[in-house]
Amino acid sequence: MKKIILAASIIGIFGTSFVHSTEAITNPTPKKTICIDAGHQKKQNLQTEPIAPGSKVKKAKVTSGTRGVATKKYEYELNLEVALQLQKALEKKNFHVVMTRTKHDVNLSNIDRATICNNAKSALTIRIHADGSTNKNTQGLSLLYPSGTYTKSINKTSETIAKTLLTETIRITKAKKGYGDGLVPRSDLTGFNWSKTPVVLVEMGFMSNATEDKRLSTKSYQQSIVNGLVNGIVKSVH
Ligand SMILES: [Zn+2]
Repeated sequence: MKKIILAASIIGIFGTSFVHSTEAITNPTPKKTICIDAGHQKKQNLQTEPIAPGSKVKKAKVTSGTRGVATKKYEYELNLEVALQLQKALEKKNFHVVMTRTKHDVNLSNIDRATICNNAKSALTIRIHADGSTNKNTQGLSLLYPSGTYTKSINKTSETIAKTLLTETIRITKAKKGYGDGLVPRSDLTGFNWSKTPVVLVEMGFMSNATEDKRLSTKSYQQSIVNGLVNGIVKSVH
């Protein structure tokens, strides 16, 4: 009762200016949405799906990913570890975050994942992966971005964001750049070709290299990857 009387008297004293400030509070600037896709899942699904809308080329719905040579950790586990930390860090920066998965036991094809992010109308979709190579010496972090004809409307924005994210993650992690300059255009990825939102994929490092594999599983290194990605996202998405 006391509260009601107090509120009524405040409205009485401040009149219209109080009403204006209330409107400002109830209509905040909408948060930007970031969609995070932790790559792969516990069980691969080798049924196929078209790699792009209308394409006759088909690929597996979702493959098993790679596995750490030293840690024996599966890529889908590492991807989700980092994805969940990235979610927390982005929420602290006031982004709205949509996750395609928060557990391992799911059945989500690459089209399904792109669709979740499309429906979320994300300002950026970020796909979290780790690499594998038959050459155990290969190391490095890289950023992939869409480049094909199916993704014309998002190619340029995605490339620009990929460059910023690469710069920021390399600066903080001190990782080598994978594949030469660390930037890889791709026109053959289902997860890119079905995307209607700007999209990038981070290959955090090679789990086929024992040193990098072990480093990727340390909390401090994961945090440095996350910090680099957050810096890049803050710079890219306004
Ligand atoms: Zn992967």
